Amino acid sequence: MFSTSARACQNLLSGIKVSQRFQSTLVIAEHNNENLLPITRHAITAANKLGGEVSVLVAGTKCGTVAEQAAQVQGASRVLVAEGDAFKGLLPESVTPLVLATQQQFKFTHIVAGASAFGKSLLPRVAAKLDVSPISDVVDIKDKDTFVRTIYAGNAILTLKAKDAVKVLSVRGTSFEPAADGGSGGKSEPAPSGDYASKVSEFVSQELSKSDRPELTSAKVVISGGRGMKSGDNFSLLYKLADKMNAAVGASRAAVDAGFVPNDLQIGQTGKIVAPELYIAVGISGAIQHLAGMKDSKTIVAINKDPEAPIFQVADYGLVADLFKAVPELTEKL
Ligand SMILES: Cc1cc2nc3c(=O)[nH]c(=O)nc-3n(C[C@H](O)[C@H](O)[C@H](O)COP(=O)(O)OP(=O)(O)OC[C@H]3O[C@@H](n4cnc5c(N)ncnc54)[C@H](O)[C@@H]3O)c2cc1C
Repeated sequence: MFSTSARACQNLLSGIKVSQRFQSTLVIAEHNNENLLPITRHAITAANKLGGEVSVLVAGTKCGTVAEQAAQVQGASRVLVAEGDAFKGLLPESVTPLVLATQQQFKFTHIVAGASAFGKSLLPRVAAKLDVSPISDVVDIKDKDTFVRTIYAGNAILTLKAKDAVKVLSVRGTSFEPAADGGSGGKSEPAPSGDYASKVSEFVSQELSKSDRPELTSAKVVISGGRGMKSGDNFSLLYKLADKMNAAVGASRAAVDAGFVPNDLQIGQTGKIVAPELYIAVGISGAIQHLAGMKDSKTIVAINKDPEAPIFQVADYGLVADLFKAVPELTEKL
């Protein structure tokens, strides 16, 4: 009797097609050992759009405070913490085996990170090791398998259905609201332990530029200068205006290549992607590679002396004027 019903049960189970595991997502936290960076909050929002439980992996040297912050974020139900010298500088060579070990243990259906320099160097490695296709620069999530991403420097939008068992996604911060604090306090537990020290690279040091101005990718107002600024010294015009508007200052690649400003200010296809409430382009022609980094801004203002400049095609407000006259006037009036 027992064996018959056991066989019946087995037959029944084998008849059921187990098409998928429960939804669960791992978000890889980006931080500086003191604070969770805003991009992680955007990634947590994206992860929650996928449905299912969201775990956040915090790896670092002394990252206890960051783990506590992550546990407070709405939608983070579990925080996995990995502390050790191996994670100094968060080298992708050390974080990749940690992510793989975590994946091996928890069998997540999705792995998500921000489409930042960190995410861009980590996720392709993880995807290659899992033998799945990475899905980069995701700007919308339709359902657990269907993602919207930009291609051709943001000039075309692609909707794709991923069939891989594990989906590895980098998400654009500008496309997902940052998840706020106020979660019920996700439970914190250690990530799988192991020897994660990289054999091929070693973190030596980093020099971070310090600024009292808002961070470029999260500022509500961004003022950018292009080749039309003529020199680095002339950027002081933009800094004065930025001070009045609590704005961040950005630049086109031409301005960076000419040495006017450092390259962490570059906005565009090969620079940062921004989508502030207000973007003011000063002496920038509006090449597609620049537009790729700012055209999702809510309001775009362009100041250019050439009425034919392509930037006017995307601008909500355009001022055909000499910037050396218009910018000081604007600063004074503000
Ligand atoms: C693979 C690739 C990737 C790239 N990635 C990026 C990227 O990430 N970001 C990026 O920005 N570019 C990028 N570029 C470069 C891009 O193609 C353009 O060359 C660049 O954006 C031009 O910068 P610009 O508008 O400052 O300079 P220009 O095109 O030279 O325009 C300068 C503008 O200033 C105006 N001007 C001059 N003097 C004044 C004045 N006194 N008052 C008012 N206006 C004035 C001119 O009318 C002109 O429109 C990339 C290119 C390639 C091939």
